[in-house]
Parts: sequence; structure tokens; C-alpha cells
Amino acid sequence: MRIWLKSARLIDGSGAAPVDDAAILIEGETIVHAGRLSAADAPRRPDTQVVDLGGRTVIPGLVEAHIHLSYNNVKVIADLDLNCPPEYSTLVSAKNAELALSCGYTAARSAGSVHGVDVALKRAINEGLYPGPRLLAASRDIVATGGMSDWNPSYLKLGMDGLAVIADGADQIRTAVRRAIKDGADVIKCYVGGDALLPHTPIADCTYTLDEVRVLVDETHMRGRIASAHVRGARSSRVAAEAGVDSIEHATYADDETLRMIADRGLVLVPGLRYLYSIIENGPRFGITEDIVGPSGLRDEIKQAADTYRRAKDLGIRMCPGGDFGFAWNPHGEYAKDIQVFVDVIGFTPLEAITCATRRGAELMRMPDRIGTVEAGKLADLVVVDGDPLKDITVLQDRSHLSVMKGGRFVTRNLQGGSP
Ligand SMILES: [Zn+2]
Repeated sequence: MRIWLKSARLIDGSGAAPVDDAAILIEGETIVHAGRLSAADAPRRPDTQVVDLGGRTVIPGLVEAHIHLSYNNVKVIADLDLNCPPEYSTLVSAKNAELALSCGYTAARSAGSVHGVDVALKRAINEGLYPGPRLLAASRDIVATGGMSDWNPSYLKLGMDGLAVIADGADQIRTAVRRAIKDGADVIKCYVGGDALLPHTPIADCTYTLDEVRVLVDETHMRGRIASAHVRGARSSRVAAEAGVDSIEHATYADDETLRMIADRGLVLVPGLRYLYSIIENGPRFGITEDIVGPSGLRDEIKQAADTYRRAKDLGIRMCPGGDFGFAWNPHGEYAKDIQVFVDVIGFTPLEAITCATRRGAELMRMPDRIGTVEAGKLADLVVVDGDPLKDITVLQDRSHLSVMKGGRFVTRNLQGGSP
């Protein structure tokens, strides 16, 4: 089966300017041609299905670089652990995976999964049982005693078995990483810093030592997996960078020296910036109080975030959108809002922001030779956009304007109505 997408405006994800009147030719799951096509080269085989895109824009399938498919749009953070039996978390994940795919996200890098359900979900997606993005599965959170994901009081004797694995010191950390890899994780996620929403570990906290994070990275790299760390404060950001964590999540208060270290080592920064805006906009409706949102809380963080990420951009740090969706104030389905803040707040052009959300995401997922750009030889993961995302990046947020193809097959198709 061959598909010929004709009359496309192609944004190929490489960062190159769009090509008008382009053709994309797909055989099976693979792109065999992308770009201008002379009349002489136009496919004539009778098994070629021709789809006239009427000038619509084609971009590579989007990559969500920080996803929590098992988070069920919870209204209180505690529900991430206590109200999630593994069977339920699995069903929630499958539903969110289908939603993410329909939003144009043909690939996603997990940043932590309750009960480690990502692993089974990834298998079900790869076997074609459920629709969803190509997934890198994450472990449960690896966290120190009293760290960010260890909030149940000791006297309740509840542990944190759904969301987190508590590990202190080199031996326990090695065991936690080995166990996560044994269970199938691609991404080893740890919590080094704190967060405004979790008063027991404020933003400035650092809950692991440099030596402990080095052990985690060493063990993760020895097995060829990706290390990821949640950090916000200056000290935790420094520890993550110095330890060589592959993917640094947030790092809102990273100082210049830390940012230079991230740049020099070629680490990836995933800001997750939309999350902060979502809490400020919607959090009060869900009981998030002014002492968390107020001037010395999230409003300060958001001011700092804009400054930090602009400096990171100037240093050429690779950054990927990925917005921590899965909370009532920041629900699944709004993923492309995190691409919008790359433009509105960090100062990327829309074309650069699309590159961050495609090619850079593929690099983070260590699949740059298979996904991330629309070019011959790559998997046919792409999104047809009814509109011009270079003029208005928010068009990517409207699923009714998107037709999504994964592996050469349309999974959603909104091409009715002729030319845009
Ligand atoms: Zn997260």
C-alpha cells in the first residue's frame, strides 16, 4: 500500500523553511519521498492512494517529552498515589495514550508512571492492542526518604508504593534502578528537588546528594537507559547537571554556571513551563491557595522561569516541550499549550518551537534516525494541520484541525471541507 500526500505545505522538522506544493510518498510505514516532486516522478502505480491536502501544512508527529499517562487529571496531588490501584492506573493510561495520539503526539517520553504501568502500556501499543504514541516507559519515581514523592506521614504506615520507590544511599539507589530496568523501564526518573505544591519539600530543597545522583546516573547509563531528574531550585539543578542526568526537568532556578554545564554536556532541558501557568490560571478553582500561587510562590517561579529558559535558549541548550499534564488544572489533551509557551514566553519562533517538539524530542527519545522529521527513510509519523502553525501556533491545540498519521496509517482524519 502506497499513499501519496500531494499539495502539502511541508515543515519537515529539521528547522528548514516550509516547502510549498510538496509531496510525501509513503510505502507501508515508511516515508520514501518528502519534498517537491516533478510530474515525471509522480507515482502512477494503481495501488497508490492519492490524498490531496489542498495546501494544508504537514509537520512531523509531535513528541511529548514529559508525559504522565497514568495521572488521571487529579484534583489533589495525594490522589496520584492513594486512589490509584494498578488496574485503574492502567486503564487511565490507555485512555490518555489514545487521547495524546489524537492530539498529534505520535511519540512520548514518560516522566514517571504510577505502579510502573507504562511498561505494559508500551507493550500493548506496540502490539497494536491500543492506539497510542510510541512510548518510552518510565519507572516509578525514585526518591529519597522525605523527598518530593514521599509525602505520606510515617505514622500512617502507608508507604508510597503506587507512585514511588524510596531509596537512600548508593546501594538502595542501585537496587532501585536495577529493579526498574528489570521491570522494563526505559527512563529512570528521580526526584532531586522540591515543588511549590508539596510544602514538605519547597522549591529550594535538594533531597539527594551529588554522590547519590551520580550513582543513579552511572547505573542507568551502564544499562543504556535515560536518566531524568525533577529539579527546580538552584542547588538541585546544579546537582542534576553535575551528575550528568540526561534529561533535566524544570530547573527553574538554575544559575548561569549550571546552565553552562547543561549546555557543555549536551544535556536536555524540559521546562514543563505550561504547568506553572495552568496552576496560576486554574489552580484556585481546585483549592490551590494564594500562599502557593502568590508573589513569593509560583508567581516568583514563573518570573524566574521566563528568564532562565531565555538564557538557556541563548546558550543553545536543547529544550523540548513537555508539560506535566494530568492534573485537574492542567488536564490531558492540552499538550500543545506547552509548545505555545516556547513561543510566547521563551522566545522561540514558531518554526523553532516545532523543531523542539519534533526533531529535538526524537533526539531525547534516542530515535533520531526513525522519527522527528518528515524525510525519506523515516517512519511516516506526521500531522496534517488545517491552518498555518507558523502564523498561529495555537492551531496545534485544536484536534478538529489535525489529521494524525502514525506508521503510515491515519489514526484521525479531519480533511473534509476542501482547502483551508
Ligand atoms: Zn512531571
